[in-house]
Amino acid sequence: MSTKIQKDIVCPACGQTQKLEMYTSVNAEENPELRRDILRESMFDWECRHCGYTAQMAYPMIYHDPMNAFMICLRPSGAVSGAEPIPAVRALKKRSVKNPQELKEKILIFEAGLDDAAVELVKNAIVTVVRKNLDGNVHAYFCAATEE
Ligand SMILES: [Zn+2]
Repeated sequence: MSTKIQKDIVCPACGQTQKLEMYTSVNAEENPELRRDILRESMFDWECRHCGYTAQMAYPMIYHDPMNAFMICLRPSGAVSGAEPIPAVRALKKRSVKNPQELKEKILIFEAGLDDAAVELVKNAIVTVVRKNLDGNVHAYFCAATEE
């Protein structure tokens, strides 16, 4: 079951308040449209209806895919929970991510049937090589796999 709450958001541009619908949990099987919005990177888009200001409003969320047996906790604050998993979710793959891009990446990795630890190692190797040739921060995200 997906869970939705509403919060008042004050627009940082015009100061007006409006309601924001936030999904604190998403079940990919029951709400494929929410999965689609996460993969399109539009799930956390917010637009002020008073002045048109747009922003990404990432908030804590649990994403659950029963078919592929995984659960991902999005924690934009980076806070770590010491909570122990209940028996109903003990058999699931469980991961914690810090931003919507990492959430999307984990979904794509698990839906492709890949080992996310192996993907992280490959990404790290690629980023190490790329950093030698470029200045600044380099981030890599898995996006798709093919037979080749
Ligand atoms: Zn505004």
